Amino acid sequence: MDSSTSLCDVIIIGAGLAGLSAASYLIENGVFDILILEGDNRVGGRVQTFVDNSSEAVFDFGAQWIHGSTDNSLWKFAKGKNLIEEEIRTYDGEGLFLREGGREISETLVSEVKEVVNSWLEECCSFSRSHGNGIIPSSVLEYLEEKKQNYLESCDNNLDDREALLQWNIRYQIIDNACFSMEELCSKAWGEYKECEGEYCNTIKGGFMKIVENLLESVPEENIIKNSKVFSIQLVDDLNINGAVLVKSTSGYYLANHVIYTPSISCLKTNCDIFVPSLENPILKGISHISMGSINKIFLIFQDKFWDDDTKGFQIVFDDTNGNEKEWYHDLTGFDIFPFHRNCLVAWVGGHGALLTEKLDCQTLKSDCHNLLQRFYLKRHIPPIETIHRTKWHSNSLIKGAYSYRTAPFDMCLQDPIWSKEDKPLLLFAGEAYSYSHYATAHGAYESGRDQASKLVKWRKGIL
Ligand SMILES: Cc1cc2nc3c(=O)[nH]c(=O)nc-3n(C[C@H](O)[C@H](O)[C@H](O)COP(=O)(O)OP(=O)(O)OC[C@H]3O[C@@H](n4cnc5c(N)ncnc54)[C@H](O)[C@@H]3O)c2cc1C
Repeated sequence: MDSSTSLCDVIIIGAGLAGLSAASYLIENGVFDILILEGDNRVGGRVQTFVDNSSEAVFDFGAQWIHGSTDNSLWKFAKGKNLIEEEIRTYDGEGLFLREGGREISETLVSEVKEVVNSWLEECCSFSRSHGNGIIPSSVLEYLEEKKQNYLESCDNNLDDREALLQWNIRYQIIDNACFSMEELCSKAWGEYKECEGEYCNTIKGGFMKIVENLLESVPEENIIKNSKVFSIQLVDDLNINGAVLVKSTSGYYLANHVIYTPSISCLKTNCDIFVPSLENPILKGISHISMGSINKIFLIFQDKFWDDDTKGFQIVFDDTNGNEKEWYHDLTGFDIFPFHRNCLVAWVGGHGALLTEKLDCQTLKSDCHNLLQRFYLKRHIPPIETIHRTKWHSNSLIKGAYSYRTAPFDMCLQDPIWSKEDKPLLLFAGEAYSYSHYATAHGAYESGRDQASKLVKWRKGIL
């Protein structure tokens, strides 16, 4: 340590929802000597809202909905700040289900297949919760494939549409879970995620970044250092000082009593070597059970609105045997009506396709999307796409993907602090990936930050 090392009580690495909620919890509980080191030049992490000045439309590039309200502390926070939009306007994977050449699949068949797939997923959840160690297929895909086979054998009409719709639903799940294949999802861990009851898609007035702005009201600006990328975290287990953590970042060196680390699980996995000494095996094993794929949103603003007012979207139901398609098309579900801009559709891309689209320039992406829509929606001439907004979450080196999923049951040791020899909590992990039952979500990140911060407060009071 040299004389230029700054001293502080708690360092929080990352100013996403987990980092900011940890900071606000500490401040609420009288711990004021905190510093947040954020690698980016902005706060919010996977929450990022873009406001288009000309149309005043609000685009959420990352999180956009709070899922559920009951026992959801982020919903409670947003509700208390009057941020929850009363009118729910969201169209996710709805609308016309189109086959090549423009044929629409009947609404009855679309809802039948959706309901069937959802019932299998719920069943898998119940199995996972009740038969923890019993015999169930190891992956969620295996579980679905077994069901799919039996279902198709029991049907005697529309087999081709049914099979294509099943594939569409699996694609939807790949996007929803931000994985590369449903095969990676561990069926035994599937039941760990618990939905909060209440409206599933709560929209935030003015965009999700309003939540971050409201959190910032309780965290003074001077406690946050932006453009401060942490590259070394050294646990100094020196009995004279009862342990401390030396954090080295691009903005300087800091010595703290406690560190809360909140970067994404992908960042942690690729940067494990920043910890000195290395993280111990149980933690490494726990981390290896969590993965993170990517999803991207592509907002397409057309010269004119070409759909009717009651249309909710255009879902693309591919013939998966056609090998001539552009590779990324098979990781797209379709184009949803974007409720905050009159002429805008939003496409969601997941799996490997999400990574492939990040390499495409905007012009190519525009013409690929236009061609695809025109091929599947022949009823109308599709006007040119004027503007495109697209995300690149995977290539963002401070995020590296969208959110986490589980390839094996969660190891609770990841929620335990790493202690000094004198029983002082030196290092804690927070963020969406460490929430046992709300992982992958904004509320999971928010809760996890507060939970880990509360451990420090309890320890100070001698009750941890
Ligand atoms: C496209 C998309 C859509 C989503 N939609 C929803 C949704 O509708 N509802 C929902 O509930 N959730 C959604 N999510 C998930 C939600 O956004 C995340 O779960 C949540 O924002 C994660 O917060 P976090 O604090 O755990 O991590 P992050 O937001 O990733 O914060 C970590 C911070 O650490 C910083 N950092 C990283 N490395 C370093 C370093 N070395 N030094 C310093 N700082 C560093 C990063 O810059 C970042 O600011 C979505 C995510 C994406 C990508």
